[in-house]
Amino acid sequence: MRVFKFGGASVKDAAGVKNLAQIIKRYADQLVVVVSAMGKTTNAMETIVEAYMNNQAVELAKRFNEVKVYHLQIVEELFGQDNACLQELFNQLELKLESEPSLNYDFEYDQIVPFGELMSTTIISTYLNETGMTNKWLDIRKYIRTDDCYRSANIDWPLTQELLSRKIKATDAPLVITQGFIGSTETNLTTTLGREGSDFTGAIIAHVLDAESLAIWKDVPGVLNADPRWYPRAVKIDELSYWEAIELTYYGAQVIHPKTLKPLQNKQIPLLVNSFIEPEKRGTVIQSSEQSGELQPIFVLKRNQVLISMSPKDFSFIIEESMSDIFHIFSEHRIKLNMMQTSALNFSVCVDDSKRLKAAIDELQIQFDVRYNEDMELVTIRHYTDAAIEEIIANKEVVDSQVSRKTARYVLKASEWQF
Ligand code: ADP
Ligand code: ASP
Ligand code: MG
Repeated sequence: MRVFKFGGASVKDAAGVKNLAQIIKRYADQLVVVVSAMGKTTNAMETIVEAYMNNQAVELAKRFNEVKVYHLQIVEELFGQDNACLQELFNQLELKLESEPSLNYDFEYDQIVPFGELMSTTIISTYLNETGMTNKWLDIRKYIRTDDCYRSANIDWPLTQELLSRKIKATDAPLVITQGFIGSTETNLTTTLGREGSDFTGAIIAHVLDAESLAIWKDVPGVLNADPRWYPRAVKIDELSYWEAIELTYYGAQVIHPKTLKPLQNKQIPLLVNSFIEPEKRGTVIQSSEQSGELQPIFVLKRNQVLISMSPKDFSFIIEESMSDIFHIFSEHRIKLNMMQTSALNFSVCVDDSKRLKAAIDELQIQFDVRYNEDMELVTIRHYTDAAIEEIIANKEVVDSQVSRKTARYVLKASEWQF
């Protein structure tokens, strides 16, 4: 059995849904197909949540209508006007939006945003059934069970294992269509796994069902040695080890969700990153392999960074206790440290710019002299060469750097990239 995952870009319109059908038609074995919300629907759902929580009735109605119109247009293109496959979901969402919001933003978010995935999978399952590709639509919330950490829920692995494997064993459908990104608590309240979490869903399902492989279908030919939207000369990497792939996602390569690799590595399930535009071509295979230093340079850019430097107010060394205080503050404010640098009297970190940062800096300032630089970018070069470094830092203001045996990292003042 294989698991496939299709992201929003692959099913952004009716042509995308038809393309998905063509791709899965080529596989005869049992398939579980995980799908994200269509196109930019998750962003649109977030604006609905915002309007709902702020009691902006007019804005809410407008945004809800936009989401409806977008999906109905796809439905109409696929089936003609009469298909009512989304009516039930629209009714449920409408009912939710008419109710009074609680004060818990993250909870409300998780009750609303998942409609994106529910709508996309309903359309796709209906389309496949109507075109002779008999399939079963699965509400994954009944099987992927999580804690109640809304918007960033943690998987209850034993329960998920039990429920999902029992369900899949009991179903004789060769084709299952289900949602990425969502789960539910033991009391059946919907949760989400974090933005871009559908790759992770694919990995959870592959792990639990001991799948032969997980294939994620993207708008790129595979994993490239840089994001092609930034670096025009990016080329495809045919094969990567789990280790190398985890390093890349850790540094911020957005092509794979960082949580995806562990469940696959633990069961030695290969991850295939394929193109939904050229599905017949070989993409990237990520699996166990002894990769050495022969890889070409791989570039990862993280934009919107802030470089924060802290020194103790009383001139004492930066020692373990102060480090522990600093980590505690960042962890409390849920701020991930993308790069760290330490010296006797100074500790600096590079972090994503976010609304949460100010509160953390205020707290740090009680104990430390804090300076920070906004508008930074962090570039990581794995398997760097002199030429690769030169290409990146030429004409750039380097604010900080860190070079180890395999990895060179630069904090740069943001400015236009010209390659
Ligand atoms: P999905 O539709 O599955 O959510 P994403 O948009 O999350 O797909 O991921 C695909 C995008 O990731 C590509 O369009 C590309 O711009 C970006 N990307 C970033 N880094 C890389 C990389 N190293 N290789 C390939 N794509 C990358
Ligand atoms: N639809 C969700 C998002 O856009 C999950 C995903 O696409 O992976 O974040
Ligand atoms: Mg994505």
